[in-house]
Amino acid sequence: MSRYTGSVCRFCRRENLKLYLKGDRCYSDKCAFDRRSYPPGQHGQRRSGKISDYGLQLREKQKVKRSYCLSESQFKLTFEKADRKKGITGINLLLSLEQRLDNAVFRLGFSNSRPQARQLVRHGHFLVNGKKVDIPSYQVKAGDVIELREKSRSMQVFTDSLEAVVRRSMPQWLDLEKDKFKGTIRSVPAREDITMPIQENQIVELYSR
Ligand code: SF4
Repeated sequence: MSRYTGSVCRFCRRENLKLYLKGDRCYSDKCAFDRRSYPPGQHGQRRSGKISDYGLQLREKQKVKRSYCLSESQFKLTFEKADRKKGITGINLLLSLEQRLDNAVFRLGFSNSRPQARQLVRHGHFLVNGKKVDIPSYQVKAGDVIELREKSRSMQVFTDSLEAVVRRSMPQWLDLEKDKFKGTIRSVPAREDITMPIQENQIVELYSR
């Protein structure tokens, strides 16, 4: 599977939304979206006009996929699992993305961005309920305790991230004990905990074509 190695700031400009993929830079005056909030590419500033239904559906899917930093196949797989669950597929999709371990690590403030959270999880820095879990897609559930491994606690990346967490609001479904390098999943997230503007029904429509 090939991995995108270009500038992720293009994604924010393309989706016309800050996706916060670059940590500290996203909060600085170096943010590419703040400086050039028009789509990337040679004709980015000229593009306008009516977007088709398909175009709208595609943009919603790309926005969510890029925000959670998934490949096309990973996103499709998550969608298929969400579709098999009881309830509303679009909401199931968003909630299962939100319950990923890498997302919980990011939301708790152990990392400055989701891409960084994914890497830190893969490198085995976290324990879930006392056991090492290095699978970014691991689904957290109510009552789970996510903890930074003892020997990782002095690493600058975590000190810096935890200090910077005040820039973001902590979702109600999470509880952080900063001094213990520990976070608890108070409850599974609800749809209203996801504040990014998303029309999940458009993604369902896209995959129903
Ligand atoms: Fe997006 Fe962050 Fe790049 Fe700004 S700095 S365009 S928010 S990834």
